[in-house]
Amino acid sequence: MPASFKTTCCYCGVGCGIVVQQNRQGKLEVSGDKDHPVNRGMLCSKGMNLHYTVMDTSDRLLYPEMRYNRQMQRQRVSWDQALERTAAVFKTIIAQHGPESVAFYASGQCLTEEYYVINKLIKGFIGSNNIDTNSRLCMSSAVAAYKMALGEDAVPVCYDDIELADCIFVAGANPAWCHPILWRRVEAARAANPNLKIIVSDPRATQTCAQANVHLQLRPGTDIVLHHAIGRILIENGYTDASFIEQHTEGFAAYWETVMQRTVAEAAAICDVPESAIREAARYMGQAKGFITMWTMGLNQSAVGVRKNLSLINLNLITGHIGKPGSGPFSLTGQPNAMGGREVGGLANLLPAHRLLDNPQHRAEVQAFWNSNPISPKPGLTATQMFTALNEGKLKAIWIVGTNPLVSLPDVRFAEAALQKAKFVVVQEISNKPETLRYADVVLPAAAWAEKEGTMTNAERRISYLHKITDAPGQALPDAEIICRFAQKMGYHGFDFNSFSEIYEEHTRLTAGTRIDISGLDYNTLQVKRSVQWPYPKSSAGKGTPRLFTDHRFYTPSSKAIIHSFEDGNSSVPTDETLPLILTTGRIRDQWHTMSKTGKVNRLKQHIANSFLEIHPEDARQRHIAQDDIVEIFNGNGNVRVKAKLSTDIKKGVVFLPMHWGKVLQSDLNRANNLTHALVDPISGQPDLKFSAVQVQRYRKP
Ligand code: SF4
Repeated sequence: MPASFKTTCCYCGVGCGIVVQQNRQGKLEVSGDKDHPVNRGMLCSKGMNLHYTVMDTSDRLLYPEMRYNRQMQRQRVSWDQALERTAAVFKTIIAQHGPESVAFYASGQCLTEEYYVINKLIKGFIGSNNIDTNSRLCMSSAVAAYKMALGEDAVPVCYDDIELADCIFVAGANPAWCHPILWRRVEAARAANPNLKIIVSDPRATQTCAQANVHLQLRPGTDIVLHHAIGRILIENGYTDASFIEQHTEGFAAYWETVMQRTVAEAAAICDVPESAIREAARYMGQAKGFITMWTMGLNQSAVGVRKNLSLINLNLITGHIGKPGSGPFSLTGQPNAMGGREVGGLANLLPAHRLLDNPQHRAEVQAFWNSNPISPKPGLTATQMFTALNEGKLKAIWIVGTNPLVSLPDVRFAEAALQKAKFVVVQEISNKPETLRYADVVLPAAAWAEKEGTMTNAERRISYLHKITDAPGQALPDAEIICRFAQKMGYHGFDFNSFSEIYEEHTRLTAGTRIDISGLDYNTLQVKRSVQWPYPKSSAGKGTPRLFTDHRFYTPSSKAIIHSFEDGNSSVPTDETLPLILTTGRIRDQWHTMSKTGKVNRLKQHIANSFLEIHPEDARQRHIAQDDIVEIFNGNGNVRVKAKLSTDIKKGVVFLPMHWGKVLQSDLNRANNLTHALVDPISGQPDLKFSAVQVQRYRKP
């Protein structure tokens, strides 16, 4: 192996550049890439320890396995045996029940090439649109809101805007822990510019709040009320941009009427934050020359997630802070390649290059390009719908790629019952730990980060290339190769790629002439430039596109951005006398998703080793709960049993559980999603993971 490789971190959507080297003992070492524009040499604790996840292969799946019924133990088989049997079962199920009886459930950690071939397989050849990914749980509300407000799922800003802003509103996010390197750039910008104002809205006083000029510690579910109140203050104090509103937006009159329906004092009472704090925050936003809104799961993972997003984007639109340096609405991507997945159309309602499933011309273009079967206009099943359909017997077979739904889906016992009922389950995975393996009829071992090449797109539309650095253990194969081999066993043409660059090149050709055109970008260019922001058409003369909408022409029919108006209510399952507390779930600094990678790095356990319940001391006192007592959290869906951590950082009446833990590593009783509801936003289909009514009591052994 060469002395060193430059590649990209595979954890969060920040997309940091990494240098991987082999030391004299032959062990891999990682460091931050000083030349990379995202991280400039910095890495967070997860990135710094990435090499351990590759070097420790003790938990890896090494060989394909299969069984003929659930009473059998799975047996090791060859790749041909596993894929031929899978193809035979898929053909039988499709023949008996139609193409909509099978589905693929993939991951925002898949590489773009992997997404591309899965999407091509199911939409072009199997004949159903049943592909969705765990990105549905992560940012689908932001995607829908961008499309509704700006006409396209397109992040307008770039990281360099952080240094150019003088007000940043972080709504429902804790980037200090979840996007650490991005947050270090905010901290550095703050140090260089003491006038940079930071406002945070969050029911918890997180590490991010340490930088906040104003922390709006709102009641969960009241974000829209807060955003509308800020909108009203901006209007009443002349902080809006009348010329921008007039020339470049639609819907302001209705918005004006909506936000005037509540006084700021009423809004403050509903949100349970001081009116003076809302007014101070609005003043900072209104006086800013550069204003960025930044958000993630706190807004997205909600039964009204799209409305929460739109109400925040409205603040950028009424102040004219979009399409210019230091300004714009910035959805922080959670996963490393959620955006790449959408570029290839890898969701139940999309086609490649952001084409639309309900557009006959778009379907015809893709069908002609693929030389495939007709593409169905019927949207596929979203993540939660797949598991409902399995439970109802409508979906017979599911193929799970690189995700762990029995920890990450809401109301996870319902999801587990679904896999029990499934006729055929394929699990394509790197680790032998996920609980899904218990239900797998066929197990396909996949190559991990550093064992395959491909591309990913980060939160600022930056596409980067990932090197293959080392061979996968055993017979594990890259995910794209597994899918292509399967497609050929099914008898489909168009999957005989000789390399991953051929897959990538086919994907880029399909983007030509679209709004996300990257037809000028090939592997060679990416390897030289390291990363480029889309669009990057052939005519781009070697330049990417840091900012969108700089001409203030949006991708709506009128070319104007849409200011949406709606009521400010929340539709979560409410609290009551028996379930009086609001449970919110989230992430901790040193773990990633369901811990199948970070959970095996001892250093990362030193920060927080076990799950816990964060509870306000007053709520704890009422329940006779002391620090480190074992507590039981329960509602109609299930229960969780962990130690109590008393903290005034959390709002009274709210409790917090980290989402990482589950059966795999410890106990089913650590799993936060035992308690969450399968309620979803009606537009985005994103689950309501931030608001579950629960009760808590001290646990007494029976
Ligand atoms: Fe990796 Fe995200 Fe940390 Fe950067 S901030 S090193 S991308 S986990």
